[in-house]
Amino acid sequence: MSELLSVEELHVSFESDEGTARAVRGVSFSVAPQKTLGIVGESGCGKSVSALTTLRLIPQPPGRIGPGSIRFGQKDILTLPESQMRAIRGKDISMIFQDPMTSLNPVYTCGSQIEEVLRLHKGATKAEAEEQAIEMLEKVGIPDGRRSYQSFPHQMSGGMRQRVMIAMALCCNPQLLIADEPTTALDVTVQAKILDLLQQLQESLEMSMIIISHDLGIVSDLAHEILVMYAGEAAEQAPAEELFRSPLHPYTQALLQTIPSLAGKKGRLTVIPGEVPNPLHIPDGCPFHPRCPKVMERCKTEHPPLYRAGTSHPVRCFLYD
Ligand code: SF4
Repeated sequence: MSELLSVEELHVSFESDEGTARAVRGVSFSVAPQKTLGIVGESGCGKSVSALTTLRLIPQPPGRIGPGSIRFGQKDILTLPESQMRAIRGKDISMIFQDPMTSLNPVYTCGSQIEEVLRLHKGATKAEAEEQAIEMLEKVGIPDGRRSYQSFPHQMSGGMRQRVMIAMALCCNPQLLIADEPTTALDVTVQAKILDLLQQLQESLEMSMIIISHDLGIVSDLAHEILVMYAGEAAEQAPAEELFRSPLHPYTQALLQTIPSLAGKKGRLTVIPGEVPNPLHIPDGCPFHPRCPKVMERCKTEHPPLYRAGTSHPVRCFLYD
């Protein structure tokens, strides 16, 4: 099956007075039609920057995109004129973020914000857009769509606001939805409902999805493929089931131990010691070496490549050399 989105050897950096922050360093991934890719890693690993770059939402300067390539169907995202990118954003590729309050405009009703997207991208009349917006609000599980249409964001709970964001993101039937930490700001029971909703909509609307999270547990039920990122690079990439069955990279193994439902079975929830490296000062050798429980001498000076042969799936670690 040909890929809907294909990212090859992508690099993204940011210039500042302190130097060059290398946020994304040669990452490759793809998303097939109607499939979900999970991108996982701690905050500062380059997940969100990779996703924002897919929509060319990185301000340049201070950002610099490249080398690398991003193809969406037949389109070369990095060379498209800005007018064509505007047509793609929100229509072919939509994005939802962690905090709906920062994405919804507090002075407009929820309905009118969805309506605006429909009028802009689908050329709908006001009456058509209103009907479709109400239908979409009901599709994302908001009771009494007609009444909620008139509500302002502050009149809704966090979970309901996130549903409005999802309605807004999906009202033009995008081929790809990027959900960046979509449930982080919500409490656990609401989280589970939003994740269920995303899964149902991904299947019923036959779209592809990228779900970004710091928590492997969040993506476990939704993703078909998982990319684990560390310090702007791919640490490990595998079909979801395989990654959970046989995680190879010490970082992935550590992330698994931080999932309460999995670690709980063994009775102990762990925290990964140390911190994600600052993209301005990525350590020599393997970037995970200062935190790795399996560190070897060579890890401190040599940079491990992504090993593909001899392992069940690609992994960046000398243990598989
Ligand atoms: Fe750990 Fe070395 Fe593998 Fe890096 S290359 S993850 S430091 S064992």
